[in-house]
Amino acid sequence: VRNVGLLLVALLALHFVFLLTLVPQVSGLAMLLFLFAMAIVAFQLLGFLSNAFLLKKPLFRGICIILLLSFATIALETANPPMPSRNDVAIVGASIITGHANADVIAEGTVLIDSSGSIVDVGESKDIAVPDGYDVIDASNKFIIPGLINAHSHLWRDAGDPDLPFNPNSFAPPGIAHDVSVYLADTYIGQRVITSRIEQNARKTLYTGVTTVREIGNIAFLDVDFRDRVVSGERVGPNMLVAGKILATTGGHSAEVGLVFDGPVEARRAVRKSLRERVDLIKITGTGGISDSRRLGEAGELQMTFDELQAITDEAHRRNFLVTVHAESTQGVREALQAGADNIEHGAALDDEMIALFKNNPHSLRGFTSLHPTLSIFGGSVEWTDEARENPALTVIGRNYEMVADSLITGFRQAVDNGILVGLGTDSGFASHEMVWKELKYFVKYADVTTSQAIHMATLATARSIGIADVTGSIEQGKRADLLVLQDDPREDLSLIGKPLIVSVNGYIHKPGQ
Ligand SMILES: [Zn+2]
Repeated sequence: VRNVGLLLVALLALHFVFLLTLVPQVSGLAMLLFLFAMAIVAFQLLGFLSNAFLLKKPLFRGICIILLLSFATIALETANPPMPSRNDVAIVGASIITGHANADVIAEGTVLIDSSGSIVDVGESKDIAVPDGYDVIDASNKFIIPGLINAHSHLWRDAGDPDLPFNPNSFAPPGIAHDVSVYLADTYIGQRVITSRIEQNARKTLYTGVTTVREIGNIAFLDVDFRDRVVSGERVGPNMLVAGKILATTGGHSAEVGLVFDGPVEARRAVRKSLRERVDLIKITGTGGISDSRRLGEAGELQMTFDELQAITDEAHRRNFLVTVHAESTQGVREALQAGADNIEHGAALDDEMIALFKNNPHSLRGFTSLHPTLSIFGGSVEWTDEARENPALTVIGRNYEMVADSLITGFRQAVDNGILVGLGTDSGFASHEMVWKELKYFVKYADVTTSQAIHMATLATARSIGIADVTGSIEQGKRADLLVLQDDPREDLSLIGKPLIVSVNGYIHKPGQ
């Protein structure tokens, strides 16, 4: 009995120490419990407490230590905070940019938010009386805009330095580190670690101006559970739409962390499996990608047959779910459009037939297809460090990036010029979770849109693109209170969006600066 107990203690202690090395934020309670457990072990070893009351029996002592270590592990997992409580709130005196395409601004406005999280009224302050019992937030001389919507994120991943251009070094080429992380995703400890990382990144995302995130490609289905915890107020985070695992073909982009299928029958099965996991949409990798490429030219290669693409869109659309397709070449985008993709992630240069299909796509769920160009990745350039140049695996990744980027930016420009619906998706996880606002800068840079238009694209247009415009994306009566209070006019300085004074997500008020 004693040896088994010791073994359990050793295993639990190891488990805890391992978690500590991976989880960025540790609760004080977890550390106290852990230290207490270790203190008992130490005293026991010294024999000091061998005759003390309660701790006299070795079996009892062992159980105490095991319980304390278990509690420490649980406390560690719950280190992330719940949402604050919700009240009826009036935000008064601000200039309100509503998010609509016509660049509507209410000069000195009031937003009333009730405790269910809905906007009950919005308009000029002189026309709106604040009802009794409302908490009043004075936002005179401040600006309000809808919270940003990021249609393309990977919260389970940590991104590199947000200020650097595309850096091939940030990708682990195939090797032990990569294999270990894929293996860990299927273990209990690994999933706790990934969940904790999702929570940290969700909070960073929210505090830097994003009130809705679409997680399209998780390493497991851990995003589903997190979405539910945010909805119930148990965790802090933006509103979430989740795709769970990416659907990929054998050897295809993201196959190592995806749900792998081959052939139309297995494709349908993969969609059905995903829907059973309670995802909100289906994400597939129609062409190769950059991060895990091993050959030059692999990034835009077709990796699904047309039959496979069709099987997926048909199966998802029959159940009323959207399908978004990763595509990084003209032919890849064309086939995705023809098969009825609802969104294209990344994109490439378009021809007239493709432009027409975006705007009127009979095989898509809603009759049109939209584009998320992920300029936060592709708007920069490769940082050719010595390490990237000398490591053949990293050179392939960097070169593939260069082969895709120009065509992608051409496609983005064509989309805007031709009135295709374009939304914000940064590929955060590869791009920074905290600099989503930079995507607006790229909208302005590469398509010559005004900052007002960029704000519309990043909010209401993106809401339309991902099918949630009836509930969020603009500041209007009846919608969710997903909005930011900014120090000054974001049309003059877009970076202000990344430093909101107040973030309201579904009526939960956060003050990131404090
Ligand atoms: Zn992605």
